[in-house]
Amino acid sequence: MSNPFATAQRQFDEAAAILGLSTAERAFLREPMRELHVRIPVRMDNGETQVFQGYRVQYNDARGPAKGGIRWHPEETVDTVRALAAWMTWKTAVVGIPLGGGKGGVVCDPKWLSAREKERLARGYIRQIASFIGPVSDVPAPDVYTDPQIMAWMLDEYEAIEQTHRSGVITGKPLPLGGIAGREDATARGGMYALRECAHQLGIDLTGATAAIQGFGNAGQHAHRLLGELFGTKVVAASDSMGGVYSPEGLDFDALLEHKQRTGSVAGFSGGSAISNENVLCLDVDVLLPSALENVLTVENAGEVSAKIVAELANGPTSPEADQILFAQGVYVIPDFLCNAGGVTVSWMEQVQNASLDKWPRNRVYQELDAIMTESFGAVHAMRTERKVHTRLAAYLIAVDRVAEACRLRGWV
Ligand code: GLU
Repeated sequence: MSNPFATAQRQFDEAAAILGLSTAERAFLREPMRELHVRIPVRMDNGETQVFQGYRVQYNDARGPAKGGIRWHPEETVDTVRALAAWMTWKTAVVGIPLGGGKGGVVCDPKWLSAREKERLARGYIRQIASFIGPVSDVPAPDVYTDPQIMAWMLDEYEAIEQTHRSGVITGKPLPLGGIAGREDATARGGMYALRECAHQLGIDLTGATAAIQGFGNAGQHAHRLLGELFGTKVVAASDSMGGVYSPEGLDFDALLEHKQRTGSVAGFSGGSAISNENVLCLDVDVLLPSALENVLTVENAGEVSAKIVAELANGPTSPEADQILFAQGVYVIPDFLCNAGGVTVSWMEQVQNASLDKWPRNRVYQELDAIMTESFGAVHAMRTERKVHTRLAAYLIAVDRVAEACRLRGWV
């Protein structure tokens, strides 16, 4: 089993060496600044109490309040949360928004939790971490298997504890509770803007191009819709943890979404033939979008990838060995913490909206997101060209430099 935090540290070490960071800077930036481990007792529907393990990690807050989602996953470990918190730090830095990086996780399998059990778990988690978070210290958001409803319960619990309104303590909220228009599909949309810029650089016409989506959760579903809507790109394959589906003519988005919502998986969809998760990664398509979990492109399968662009909507889908292989093969990887930064970028707009009791129109969100993604992609691409390194390393060079500078300016290192 690979350890995602070891991967995150390896990636950081490589960038730190090129940047010539001091020993103290490296020691400080390769570990989280703070973390909280909590036990959450939850009364289940059958009357029994189950105790869940939870974490909140504040990796670095030199550039602003820690920011990052809360993931509910059966295989969550403190090291996955640490890795994701590190990637959040580099993510907010590479897109230049004034936030640090954090992450939360609860070890649980939401597939087996009723709505009432989820509510009790959400509230129980917030009771344990309430003193550790806040609108100007650490701001959670949704991630894998958490959604706006869960954010609503968490906000309500926090405000009940604080006895006042603090809508900026959580982002990704439903619209009536201070959520922002456009947050739901922001991760995928930001990835689309980066993809558009990348295709432009490579001279690829996305209209009529083909794409495969590995992972059909929030990011993957919205990516499917937006690829069609924005560019006329044909999605020929999609997969999730239960299987995959393939059609060279293109998969119909509405029909596939309806099937997924009804059956819980894309597998068995009648508008295409069955394909394994593994084969989705190796299809001869223009764009491959890993959109679920970490460590799917590895030394074992990277050599088989025939896509021209890998747009990483998931966090951590590519191992360091796979990065080298893909680079040598001429595959252009838009790295996770750039490609999926749209989510946190719109979360930041939500924080700004909440802090000023404002209400942003959707087109303002889209415009500002487009401007930030376009500029950030451009800077990373220029760094890649200048240093002749793969795109992830180029993004690291920009992000780590910014965080290290903020730590130096504060007199920390
Ligand atoms: N969970 C998302 C991410 O990994 C969004 C985080 C946020 O909005 O704070 O980027």
